[in-house]
Amino acid sequence: MIAPVEVLTVRCPDPRCGTGNPYDAEDCAGCGTPVRAYGRLTAYAAHLFNRGLAAAREGRTAEARDLFAAVVHWCPADVEARNALALAGLRLGDADGARRQWELVLARRPGDPLAGRGLSQLGAAPR
Ligand SMILES: [Zn+2]
Repeated sequence: MIAPVEVLTVRCPDPRCGTGNPYDAEDCAGCGTPVRAYGRLTAYAAHLFNRGLAAAREGRTAEARDLFAAVVHWCPADVEARNALALAGLRLGDADGARRQWELVLARRPGDPLAGRGLSQLGAAPR
């Protein structure tokens, strides 16, 4: 008999186990490893992004940069977080880092206006 496919599953982070668990499971059904926090990573990335935005608004730019970097590490496809990371880096004087992030944004989403504007500003600015 073929088991039904879970739409939202949390794969056990222990590579020797790898059991698929329901999204809201406390512990892995296969080995008992706690998986609840692991399953929240995606929601947590959104939470970190919001904290990064708040930090940026309040002038805590280095903290914002670190929060956006954490989001991008978990969610490499998140172009909003990558744009925010580039901006925060630029404000901290890291023009090369900002350029790299914006190039990655454009590779994933060609024509992104924020990344395009950022890169053209960088092109005009002395290095
Ligand atoms: Zn397990």
